[in-house]
Amino acid sequence: MSRVLTNTIWLAAIGLASWLVIGPLAAAGAVAVLAIWRMAGHERQLVRLTAWAEQPLGTPVPEANGSWSRAFLALHRRASKAASQREELREMSERFRLAAEALPEGVVILDQRRNIEWINPRAELLLGLDSLSDVGMPVSHLVREPEFIAFLEKQKATGETSPPLLVRPVRSGGRMLQIRGAPFSAGRALLLIEDLTQLDRLATVRRDFVANVSHEMRTPLTVVLGFLETAHDGMAHASPEEMEHYLATALEHAHRMQRLIEDLLTLSSLESDSAPPQDAVDVAALLAGVKQDTLALSAGRHVITLENSGPATLIGNGRELYSAFSNLASNAVRYTPEGGQITLAWRKDVDGRASFTVIDSGIGIASHHIPRLTERFYRVDRGRSRDSGGTGLGLAIVKHVLERHQATLNIESKLGVGSSFMALLPAQRIQ
Ligand code: ADP
Repeated sequence: MSRVLTNTIWLAAIGLASWLVIGPLAAAGAVAVLAIWRMAGHERQLVRLTAWAEQPLGTPVPEANGSWSRAFLALHRRASKAASQREELREMSERFRLAAEALPEGVVILDQRRNIEWINPRAELLLGLDSLSDVGMPVSHLVREPEFIAFLEKQKATGETSPPLLVRPVRSGGRMLQIRGAPFSAGRALLLIEDLTQLDRLATVRRDFVANVSHEMRTPLTVVLGFLETAHDGMAHASPEEMEHYLATALEHAHRMQRLIEDLLTLSSLESDSAPPQDAVDVAALLAGVKQDTLALSAGRHVITLENSGPATLIGNGRELYSAFSNLASNAVRYTPEGGQITLAWRKDVDGRASFTVIDSGIGIASHHIPRLTERFYRVDRGRSRDSGGTGLGLAIVKHVLERHQATLNIESKLGVGSSFMALLPAQRIQ
């Protein structure tokens, strides 16, 4: 039986009993008082319920008695369930926000009118935008490149995922960006932005490198081929002196190609081998070998001295260090006119480091060239480098070897006075 019916029956029973005991008038008064008292009780609970409903979300449901206690309990359960759903939703949106912020790609959400609705920090960086001031702004007012605007319009018109756009927006500070656009709920669009600057740079370096190598190979190959073709056609008219000259020139160019290929192979192995095998290198023997090569290359045209006051043993790769040190020494010979001075010096630094320095009294280098000397094929004077047997790869090899030994190259030079190339090795490599 429902509680309402029970209460009504109780009230009727009390009224009837009162009628029999105290007479109809008094009974009617008693029932009226009882009914008013009960109504006041309901009114009080209703006021508490209204007051609770006006409290902020999450305020605990007040306690009640009688039939109200069940209503309050049901409300309490519903309120707790809503609170936990709200918390789950909050956690989910927080997780989404953190994930979007951690994405290596830039993400921009555009509304139906292509105003910025939301932007992650990566997109702020890549597009040079500020979420505080730019959210709500039309994206085409901020990123104004015509190809980007055409891309946006096309995406909006088709409502489909558009093919990626490669663009260098002014606001991105020269970055090469790849932008993809995809439809997103209710006419919105999602832009995904990737920074391809590094890849683009690598592709350019690779293209330049292939072009440089081809260019370097073409001249000697043409000379050798020219000689071979002439020989093939018959050199009956050539005098023995001319023959000797042609042969010498062809041989010189063949050697040049050989040196180029050897340097390219050295560079390639330096770039692909992860860590070189490490030995305890006997520095005195290494220096003696370098000096020997330098004397041979100079063929008595320079005064060459070796100073050795540095540590006797060095931890590193002997073959690679030999190649780096002799490259520095051979440059000194090749860029120092006859009669010049060349010093090879192995010294210990005050803070435990050691240095190998090649000082020459040669032609010197203008200061603006110095930062670029270790680039592959960078030469101050192409003709001079070639005439002296250079490949343009020597200092690139030196740089790689030193990097693999955590060492640095310091270059000082004065045009017409001479140069100093110092390889500085860290203390932990010294025994
Ligand atoms: P290369 O085979 O042309 O010598 P490197 O990479 O060894 O190539 O050197 C790059 C350039 O640096 C050279 O072409 C030359 O212009 C300059 N250079 C290197 N060493 C010296 C030096 N000791 N004196 C003057 N110029 C030098």
